[in-house]
Amino acid sequence: MQENFLPFALPDIGEEEISEVTNCLRTGWLTTGPKTAQFEQAFSEYINVRYSLAVNSGTAGLHLALEATGVIPGDKIITTPYTFTATAEVIRYLGADPVFVDVELETFNIDPAQVERKIASLKAAGAKLKAIIPVHFGGQACEMDSILEIAGHHGLKVVEDAAHALPSSYRGRRIGTLGDATVFSFYATKPLVTGEGGMVVTNSEEIARRIKIMRLHGINRDVWDRYTSKKPNWYYEVVAPGFKYNMPDIMAAIGIHQLKKVERFQKRREEIARRYTEAFADLPLRTPQVVRPEDTHSWHLYVIKLELEKLTISRDEFIEKMAEKGIGTSVHFIPLHLHPYWRDRYKLKPDDYPNALHAYERAVSLPIYSRMTNADQSRVIDAVREVLRW
Ligand SMILES: *Cc1c(COP(=O)(O)O)cnc(C)c1O
Repeated sequence: MQENFLPFALPDIGEEEISEVTNCLRTGWLTTGPKTAQFEQAFSEYINVRYSLAVNSGTAGLHLALEATGVIPGDKIITTPYTFTATAEVIRYLGADPVFVDVELETFNIDPAQVERKIASLKAAGAKLKAIIPVHFGGQACEMDSILEIAGHHGLKVVEDAAHALPSSYRGRRIGTLGDATVFSFYATKPLVTGEGGMVVTNSEEIARRIKIMRLHGINRDVWDRYTSKKPNWYYEVVAPGFKYNMPDIMAAIGIHQLKKVERFQKRREEIARRYTEAFADLPLRTPQVVRPEDTHSWHLYVIKLELEKLTISRDEFIEKMAEKGIGTSVHFIPLHLHPYWRDRYKLKPDDYPNALHAYERAVSLPIYSRMTNADQSRVIDAVREVLRW
């Protein structure tokens, strides 16, 4: 890596996180305990939701949320191909199958009109539909009114993949308060980081209780309860073959302080996004993020869509040239239907999802994070302008 290379993403960790982790190590309580409970409570208050369940990854959270909503082998789950494979792989963990529905070109989010049509044809074929997993791409909320209405009409659960959407809101309502369960990721590049980690939030007592059991071996109380309750502290009962998905206190120690900064981080990213959009107004590219005025966009990603028809370079050359200028970029996402596993298992062709394909061929994600300075951003803007003139 060049010395002055501007990475695509960087976590924003302060002294507070560092001393909380140190404190955690000194107390000797490393696994799920008081700090995890504190993080969960603060998270519930922040989102304004009844239950928050900390887990060791967003993927684990999605798996648990689907399990808790009753997904069983043979079920069909509707989701988008324009996502990370984790969204769909958890469906397979449970022996169910994803049914992909194409995205809107403007937002890269799942298209409710196409969801409706897909449900009609699946029902006609006698499929066992169970749930919809909308993904709030880049932090832009999906058309949730339509999705919730469709789900309600057909008796489907809604599990939201909000890995990018902290903090995001839809028509004044915070993401995390809308579907049956919502899952956040605290992976190293996400808007709140704990290294690895995730959170499932829900207002359903039934879903919360099931997740609490299944995230720790199917044991009916977690470690903290076990060592502080009135029952003998060695006693526990296993009620299901659960998973090992609990969040350790070392991670929660980071999360507690990250949570206090999410609004500030978002404000900064919003500022960066606004400046990018202004700076690129005259260039042969589109900024796909359509932000409804009543929404909050987390700005986890800033994705430009190159107008290839007006350019002499390809998207891949653009990325290469940016790297030569010391700017890290990325591509979100390689649609799932192009990956060998999904393609072959469901016999999918590239133009089965024309909007996802169109977006993928043109998309480049630019650096957008709170630790970037205005000078860093100027470098990105200058590089984009120069490369597109190339
Ligand atoms: C990061 C991500 C996940 C998975 O989260 P992990 O915490 O890495 O397991 C799921 N869905 C989307 C859209 C993501 O970007």
